[in-house]
Amino acid sequence: MSAAPPGTGWPLDPATARTPVARTALDVQRLARSAADAHDIDSASSVCRACDRLVGWREDVAAVKRRAYAAEPYWGRPTIGFGPPDARLAILGLAPAAHGGNRTGRIFTGDRSGDWLFAALHRAGRASQAESVSADDGMQLFDTRIVASVRCAPPDNKPTPIERATCEPWLVRELQLLAPTLQVLVVLGGFAWNAAWPALASAGYAIPRPRPAFGHGAEARIASPTGALTLLGCYHVSQQNTFTGRLTIDMLDAVFARADEIVNAPD
Ligand code: SF4
Repeated sequence: MSAAPPGTGWPLDPATARTPVARTALDVQRLARSAADAHDIDSASSVCRACDRLVGWREDVAAVKRRAYAAEPYWGRPTIGFGPPDARLAILGLAPAAHGGNRTGRIFTGDRSGDWLFAALHRAGRASQAESVSADDGMQLFDTRIVASVRCAPPDNKPTPIERATCEPWLVRELQLLAPTLQVLVVLGGFAWNAAWPALASAGYAIPRPRPAFGHGAEARIASPTGALTLLGCYHVSQQNTFTGRLTIDMLDAVFARADEIVNAPD
């Protein structure tokens, strides 16, 4: 089997066999626009098949598997947002990993990048545990939601511009629904930083010109439909960055400490 059929018992699967399936970019736009809440986005996006190349890739990976996980089923579907839908802090990544989120069915779960991210969230008091290994490991996030700008694992971790644009309506609707509570968006890496601006603009946020440049610790405060939102840039928690020391534990903790300062600042 190449992907988990919807509604067959995968932990946290929001979809059923009757969930409408987006097969084109127009379908994504229509279904995202009509999503009334996070559950609607989660369920519809978790069965999305609008990008032929990414659907083929994620399902091939799920069928062939990595040797270390040969005995495990793979999710093989888009990864959805994780965490409370009324969070004040959101974390934006680029796309799930082939043998991480695409395997476990939960974003940043089951790979080294997730090890770094969830450990940092646990140190910050935002995650119930430091280890994130599977969708049914009991992890809870507090006042924090994690989303990806592209929901399917791409070959070489590189979605094409058309794939990014096709997936954008899911993110736009997610940002619109989060807007009443969202105060800080931590953006992991320059690709996600670049993807954030058009999605924020489409979601009704005021975008400065020129757009603020990405950097670790970069900070940009913008007007949201319901108040203000601060973007915080953070180097991606990729192995490339963490193994080389480009991103250290202290640097990552400092970003979440800054996020806490903003969220807890008096109005
Ligand atoms: S990348 Fe996004 S739009 Fe494309 S198939 Fe996956 S969920 Fe659908």
